[in-house]
Amino acid sequence: MQTYPQPISSKLPNVGTTIFTVMSRLAAEHNAINLSQGFPDFDCAPELRELFCKYINSGLNQYPPMAGIIGLREAIAEKMQSLYGAVYDPEHEITVTPGATYAIFTAVTAFVSPGDEVILFEPAYDSYAPAVEVNGGKPVYVQLRYPDYSIDWEAVKNAITPKTRMMIINTPNNPTASVFSAEDLRMLESVLRDTNIVVASDEVYEHLIYDGHQHQSVARYPGLAERSFVVNSFGKTYAVTGWKMGYALAPKNLMMEFRKVHQFNAFVSNSPVQYAFADYMKNKDAYLSLAAFYQKKRDFFLQGLNGSRFKPLPSRGTFFQNLAYDAISDERDTDLAVRLTKENGIASIPVSVFYREPPPHKVLRFCFAKSDETLARGAEILRKL
Ligand code: PMP
Ligand code: GLN
Repeated sequence: MQTYPQPISSKLPNVGTTIFTVMSRLAAEHNAINLSQGFPDFDCAPELRELFCKYINSGLNQYPPMAGIIGLREAIAEKMQSLYGAVYDPEHEITVTPGATYAIFTAVTAFVSPGDEVILFEPAYDSYAPAVEVNGGKPVYVQLRYPDYSIDWEAVKNAITPKTRMMIINTPNNPTASVFSAEDLRMLESVLRDTNIVVASDEVYEHLIYDGHQHQSVARYPGLAERSFVVNSFGKTYAVTGWKMGYALAPKNLMMEFRKVHQFNAFVSNSPVQYAFADYMKNKDAYLSLAAFYQKKRDFFLQGLNGSRFKPLPSRGTFFQNLAYDAISDERDTDLAVRLTKENGIASIPVSVFYREPPPHKVLRFCFAKSDETLARGAEILRKL
């Protein structure tokens, strides 16, 4: 095809290809162990695959309702009540979406107008700022404090202006593997009281939380739940990141605005998958057992790193382990991540890409949602560096 002949005024002039695509591609090219992009290298439960096939073969292959099939919305409502004591009306307050990224984008699009400010915590998951900017909004950043990535609540208060329309939070947090405490959520509730700020709370790692920490959903806190979208992904919970299914919960009047955008974008989410999840969610153990399963993987990986010059940072949640490499190299993390992939056969994610300006600390992120064999081979390579 010929090139488009006119100048293009990009709505996202500073956006390139995501780091996840870049590193996974490089890993494939060099046949490296891929601990970069966050996805399991093991398959999902066979029962879940069978349910998906069952519903495809039952002819449930046409448009489902715009907000999702009611059985799945009811299952989500029941789970939110039993885990967090929060009551959501499946009819009006829950929408099934094609993934969590889409749900966050939709919430931002529904509420952010040109000139509005949106508070993000830095480092920030890479989809948040572009979602704000493409809608004409302005990201305003609050730094998480290295090395424990704790929140400076004074800085949060100072970041709020009359233009602040939204705040996006993420706990358990990607890429830092930190988690918000109950005290953090109480502070957030108090800081936002008397404002009209809407919160998008990315909780895709709700079950991946370790060492006895409890997931602090905004849904637990009435002063936050009333102003929040809780966003979640089936991809993380059920090891099916390629199915791209998620959901959003919010009070009815917020959800009405969300659905106005959703119905003219995707309109609906994949139908047979929804029937499969509605059935499979009855098996509570499938998600309640995840914390123990992934904590074991984290510990196995860390054990393999014993004696290494990498310094593990705390991984309290998500399926990521961050390793500081001050003792190994002065290189920028972006250079080191590429070199380790090409020369040593192991791919990771350089954490600086989640900042506007590279921070002085030197950290690579490794995904431990992998088979023990992969983790053992990965750890062995890292131990020798
Ligand atoms: N939010 C965070 C913090 C994530 O890490 C991810 C993906 N790993 C997503 C959202 C995306 O979820 P989905 O694939 O359902 O869009
Ligand atoms: N969220 C995943 C990660 O952090 C990747 C998702 C994606 O590739 N967009 O690695």
